Amino acid sequence: MQLSRFSIGTGDRFGLEGEAQIAAFKELRAHGGEADIVWNKSNREHVIIGSSPADQAAAAAAAIQRTGWDGRWFVDADHITLKTVDWFIPHCNFFTIDVAEAIGKKASAEARAAYLERAKFLLEEGAAPVPVTQVDIETVADKFLASVQEAGTTYRYIAAKKPNDSFVVELSMDETDAPQTPAQVAAILVAVAAENIPLATFAPRFPGKFLKGIDYVGDVAEFLSAFEAETRIVLWASEKLGLPKGLKLSVHTGSDKFKLYKGIHEILVRLGAGVHLKTAGTTWLEEIVGLAEAGGDGLTLAKRVYAAAYARIDELVAPYANVVEIDRARLPRPEDVAAWDSATFVHALRHEPGSSTMQSDMRQLMHVGFKVAAEMGKEYTDALLEYRESVARNVQRNLYARHLLPLILG
Ligand SMILES: [Zn+2]
Repeated sequence: MQLSRFSIGTGDRFGLEGEAQIAAFKELRAHGGEADIVWNKSNREHVIIGSSPADQAAAAAAAIQRTGWDGRWFVDADHITLKTVDWFIPHCNFFTIDVAEAIGKKASAEARAAYLERAKFLLEEGAAPVPVTQVDIETVADKFLASVQEAGTTYRYIAAKKPNDSFVVELSMDETDAPQTPAQVAAILVAVAAENIPLATFAPRFPGKFLKGIDYVGDVAEFLSAFEAETRIVLWASEKLGLPKGLKLSVHTGSDKFKLYKGIHEILVRLGAGVHLKTAGTTWLEEIVGLAEAGGDGLTLAKRVYAAAYARIDELVAPYANVVEIDRARLPRPEDVAAWDSATFVHALRHEPGSSTMQSDMRQLMHVGFKVAAEMGKEYTDALLEYRESVARNVQRNLYARHLLPLILG
């Protein structure tokens, strides 16, 4: 099973925003664009929130039914491993296999030798879209081969429990210490083909920083050059390595990367390629923006979530230490925030491209602060229902105007 040219990861932490998210995809369609909806949620998020993959699948199906949406949609077991995949298997049709733990482990000498033999054609001039050296192949053999074998084992474990061709497979290597080079990506895909994993998307680690809820930090030209080279490589891999047609790159922590969307769009148009973009956590932030914008009790609740997150920063940041960079000295103090009016709070949290009022430290803290709202339980979800219009409007606008539009329509 493969994805369409464009697919968008749309997390929905509390399972109440499906209709507003679908409204964004309807808006995209009304403007001539189309993308698959992929409701993704990781094991970590389920554990923190106290939800299950069954809840996630039921929320998605209910939103589809209520809206009558006839586009393609998926439920993604995000960042799963052999240890965590079981409870996702009956409910998901998209599996993001995360092999970060196996990166750097050694494959057997036999497997290493077989891989080096198989990959040596890459050394011939013009064999791949970028030059590949013996050092590249050996680096992949030493650093990534064991993790690709682990992905193969995980894929076969899932495939044994699902009907043929009933799910999509992504391989993610984004949560690693250093970006892979394009040449390494080419050599990694040779190993993926050898494992016979019918890959739909591949998530490398790109150059630069992809932090939660804020714009790309790094050299945009350097990112775009890697993105273009690696897009050429996945196209080549589906043609030359026997990997599935339509194989594309996946960009994780892809929300709010406003500096990149125009360049990504241009590359995809030029190469006739597609992309998968994960925007999961932003929807939860739009719930808080929507509550604050509604004023009254909604604003009070938004301030309470912030104050509690501020007090519990160490605990909340710990699971996300690699993907947030919060300067604590720049966080507004809860006693000051308590005096803010609705517009001040909204402008501090909302992330419009180029916004001069958005406070990135506060926004990153709130991004990882959903545990606080989860603990409020019904009080929080009741507020989302009470202030539905404001919350839904913000969720839809964020997804369509700030993400789908620049990325897909340009
Ligand atoms: Zn990821």
